[in-house]
Amino acid sequence: MSEMACPKPYDGHTKVAGAREIFSTVDAPAGGRVFFAAAGTSDAGQTRRGHMATIFEKIIAGEIPSTIVHRDERVTAFRDISPQAPVHVLIVPNKPIATVNDITDDDERTLGHMFVVARDIAQKEGIAENGFRLIVNCNKHGGQVVFHLHMHLLGGAPLGPMLAGGKHG
Ligand code: AMP
Repeated sequence: MSEMACPKPYDGHTKVAGAREIFSTVDAPAGGRVFFAAAGTSDAGQTRRGHMATIFEKIIAGEIPSTIVHRDERVTAFRDISPQAPVHVLIVPNKPIATVNDITDDDERTLGHMFVVARDIAQKEGIAENGFRLIVNCNKHGGQVVFHLHMHLLGGAPLGPMLAGGKHG
């Protein structure tokens, strides 16, 4: 569903021009490594968890190349393939949560950690002081196209008004 809906399917090879690693990719602790293995996909794209893997699950599992800027046992962050600002990083939980609607109380720590990682990446990218924007889209009206929860971190230039379409109503 998510990959079919993505307007720009990733060719699996392209890297964003000028992208660079700002964190070394670290091995997750034992629990994390087990998780990544469990998130792996078969040839049919079916995860061992019994659902179709999104493109982000494949990135987390290392099956599709991406420019990873941070990885730990809870969260992975990588550069958006179609950047909408000089800095555009996606921060995703390693656990495949489809949308904000699918969050459970047990996810609270991971979700909080996503903000901590966003803060650190903004600092490393040199955009913290001038400011940046964090966006989480949900479902059709939110414009979500990849159904693995993710936070957009955008910055590096003035981002303009929050919404392109003007006022509601
Ligand atoms: P959303 O509309 O919030 O679901 O955003 C999905 C984002 O994923 C878009 O900004 C896409 O450019 C980005 N994206 C899709 N495929 C990839 C990929 N393979 N690597 C990095 N970013 C991707």
